[in-house]
Amino acid sequence: MLSTVILKPTKFCNADCAYCSAPPDGHGRWSFDTFKRLMDNLAPHLTERAMLLWHGGEPMLMGPDFYWKAYEYASSLKPEIHFAMQTNILLYDSARWRSVFADIMAGAISTSFDPDGKRRTLKGSAEAYNARFWRKLDEVLGDGFEPLVIGTYDEASAPLAMQMYETSLSYGDRAFDLRVNYAYPAGRSAGTGAAITPEAYADTLLGLYERWMADAPGILITPLDQMLRKVLGEEISRCPWTKSCGGRFLSVEPNGDAYNCGEFSDMGEGYRFGNAFTQPVQELLASVPARIIRRRAYSLPTDCQSCRHYHECEGGCSRDSALYGSGVLGKYYYCASWKRVFDRIKESVRTGEAFPLMESIGLGRHIRRNVA
Ligand code: SF4
Ligand code: SF4
Repeated sequence: MLSTVILKPTKFCNADCAYCSAPPDGHGRWSFDTFKRLMDNLAPHLTERAMLLWHGGEPMLMGPDFYWKAYEYASSLKPEIHFAMQTNILLYDSARWRSVFADIMAGAISTSFDPDGKRRTLKGSAEAYNARFWRKLDEVLGDGFEPLVIGTYDEASAPLAMQMYETSLSYGDRAFDLRVNYAYPAGRSAGTGAAITPEAYADTLLGLYERWMADAPGILITPLDQMLRKVLGEEISRCPWTKSCGGRFLSVEPNGDAYNCGEFSDMGEGYRFGNAFTQPVQELLASVPARIIRRRAYSLPTDCQSCRHYHECEGGCSRDSALYGSGVLGKYYYCASWKRVFDRIKESVRTGEAFPLMESIGLGRHIRRNVA
């Protein structure tokens, strides 16, 4: 059954960032009827509490009415389904969007900003993008939302992750959660090779982890919070530490093309399951690429199977194994990053260094359980 579906109703975007991994593809926008037919196809294969993640392109270009209609229809088929949105928030205005963010998405909003302030552009202008982003973030925070702000870092910009953390803390009570991603060579930057080494990515995460433990500020820094939860046994099989996303995830492009996830859709035709507008979901999940991805569940590299972090990491992400040249069943490129970070997180839980941090993000029960 599908627990997460990434929906891309358009690849149009109001920004024009040079490194975009999902640039406009020449296809238009979904009408409500397009969504309705797709939902009819998906619904029998969704878990009761499945998450539909609106993505793009820029999903806010679809306008609020589209999301209200889609929400009402999807909820009529699956009452417990929930929604989230990944958006650049540049179109946010309280009067039009507040209720969409609150009542449909239940506040599950993530957005992106790169603190080098150079690579995200609006009509070619990084200054225009930056000014608009911070103004809109203030509006979103002012309306009481707690968006996850995702930064994508390469070798040169990695030191700025700490600056982004400081910026978040400077908001005081409204400090926002952060995500620190490695930039990857897909979409407009396909073929450019690794943008950051596993060592530099690990150094960045570990620097943040030490600071985060010392401050225990109550905000989340992803992926560190998720890795901590994995270590504490709170979560299993969470993307990107899962060998069994095949058959549980699906991503649908504006033209209906279906892939395992948004990340695989950045890789193109060879990983396409088929088309969700013209083929039943069971046929998509029986496609050759889908079957190969599912094989990762029982066909991991042997050193992963004997790794000290196997239970937490599960061999990492199959898309990234493929993206960096070792194939869907091969070695995950950022293995060295996860090894070093999982090592440090486990050590900090063992010694108690992480306890104040754990208390600050609602994981204190694990301390009390261990002490009792
Ligand atoms: S392939 Fe990677 S990014 Fe895609 S769902 Fe699986 S773990 Fe996540
Ligand atoms: S840390 Fe590396 S070796 Fe260990 S399971 Fe993850 S990818 Fe495999």
